[in-house]
Amino acid sequence: MTDTEIPEDHPRYASLVTRHRIEAGVERGITSKQGLIAQGRGEAFDYLLGERTLPSADVAARAAAAHLLAADHPVISVNGNVAALVPDEVVALAAAVDADLEVNLFNRTPERMEAIADHLHAHGAREVKGLTGDGEIPGLEHARGTVDADGIEAADVVVVPLEDGDRAEALASIGKTEIVIDLNPGSRSPRTADVPIIDNVARAVPNMTTHARELADASPEDLQAIIESFDPEATLADAERAIREGGFSGED
Ligand code: ATP
Repeated sequence: MTDTEIPEDHPRYASLVTRHRIEAGVERGITSKQGLIAQGRGEAFDYLLGERTLPSADVAARAAAAHLLAADHPVISVNGNVAALVPDEVVALAAAVDADLEVNLFNRTPERMEAIADHLHAHGAREVKGLTGDGEIPGLEHARGTVDADGIEAADVVVVPLEDGDRAEALASIGKTEIVIDLNPGSRSPRTADVPIIDNVARAVPNMTTHARELADASPEDLQAIIESFDPEATLADAERAIREGGFSGED
């Protein structure tokens, strides 16, 4: 089944498209089998959130866009789930904020690195970093900490969607401003982030691009004001409240 064969009026259309993309990603060597498990965990939280962008997540996406526009060297990290789910959307975000795209995998293999880079090129990316692997994030074992020296290692602001907790903590400890997209407000990665966006990458990435386009002409002072008024604790607390109160859609 392709995306277009799923009837758009199906009550779980967005969720079925997401599942299908992840499945296709595994078949094409882009997404790992662990990525399937991560997807399952994400779906459960998305269901509890009502499969919608909370107003607090929208505020976070705007703060993230302001950080990216104000950055000297922003980098968007792409893993196997992100490449399978939102390839066009990460390319568009990178163009809107003039960021690098860097393939960065928890389970790094040359085949998967290349498959993801090729996939991003096929979706319009000009340059894709990550394959050189001549830099490192200190505090992590070699395979987990390998990055590009002129990519994530040199970045001031990094977007790490669906990042694992250890790596998110290591990036924070070397002073990177971290934007994490994750559906679980209790996960370590969003709790470590300067800007946690508790939303599905499928909604959050295009939403960040929309905000970035709206803020394209904002002054450095205006961007700074948006950055400083953002409260990560309040965002996490609001998502947790929404989950506990149950905003789920109730459809199967
Ligand atoms: P941590 O080490 O940070 O505590 P974890 O063990 O909770 O992480 P993993 O299982 O390593 O998390 O990774 C899956 C994470 O990715 C989950 O927190 C899940 O909610 C999130 N996730 C999965 N799919 C999506 C998606 N489409 N959009 C946003 N987040 C997602």
